[in-house]
Amino acid sequence: MRVKLPPLGAHVSTAGGVSTAPGRGKTIGAEVIQIFSKQQTRWMGKALEEDDALAFRGESERTGVRTVAIHCAYLINLGTARESLRTRSLYALEDEASRAAMLGVPYLVMHPGSSGEDPEDAGIARVASALKEFGRFPKGVTLLLENTAGQGNSLGRSMEQIRRLLDGCGAPPDVAVCLDSAHLFEAGYDIAGESGWEFLLGEMKIFGLLPLVRMWHLNDSKTDLGSRVDRHQHIGQGKIGLDAFRRILAHKAFREIPMVLETPKDGEDDFEMDIRNLATLRGLAGSGE
Ligand SMILES: [Zn+2]
Ligand SMILES: [Zn+2]
Repeated sequence: MRVKLPPLGAHVSTAGGVSTAPGRGKTIGAEVIQIFSKQQTRWMGKALEEDDALAFRGESERTGVRTVAIHCAYLINLGTARESLRTRSLYALEDEASRAAMLGVPYLVMHPGSSGEDPEDAGIARVASALKEFGRFPKGVTLLLENTAGQGNSLGRSMEQIRRLLDGCGAPPDVAVCLDSAHLFEAGYDIAGESGWEFLLGEMKIFGLLPLVRMWHLNDSKTDLGSRVDRHQHIGQGKIGLDAFRRILAHKAFREIPMVLETPKDGEDDFEMDIRNLATLRGLAGSGE
């Protein structure tokens, strides 16, 4: 029996302006896409003009490709002990949130941050207080905390940490969760096998996270289980393997959840690998069982 698949797509480039993204999505056969709303290595981007937003909405309409998420700049670190970095991070988050609102993009994906040299408790408390200080997100925009590989003491590497981050900021309705399969594996969740997958689901139930997952990043991993080194690989060509993706795609809790690839590309307009990875994922539906 073939089961209905969740909405699938990829992270695509916005080279040439945000309005180019839906067209790229269409080229690779995506139903959903994720974008950076500006250069991801910059604190602030060029202000979005009303015209950019209009063109973007027009392209979304024309192509039927939904932009479900803006991935925040990697520079943002709400876990930092440095006051100046914290302030810049909060401003940058506000900038991202207003871009999402302007473009009508429902999710803003953010890595929670790093505790740096400090114990994780201190980092978690700082992220939580920064999110409290930030306050509410614009109407229609939900912040998704992404689980991490745990590289460089990054926070959000376990389901427990994610729960503590959520509780710490008061678990508001506009903060939820995005899961990345490569990060799970790299952080030590052995989702390659059935028992590791069940273990993860068990933890998600204990920490009440299952209903909070709003999006998946589907990436295989170049590095080993528990490496805490974040390197994405094409689906089925890494250490995780195809079975894990079959299980994610088939789980009833995730049936309606958008899932995007963040797998390697050779340049902004390398559509070939996204097309192949999407075909691999679609081929997994209802297979092997
Ligand atoms: Zn990711
Ligand atoms: Zn990653």
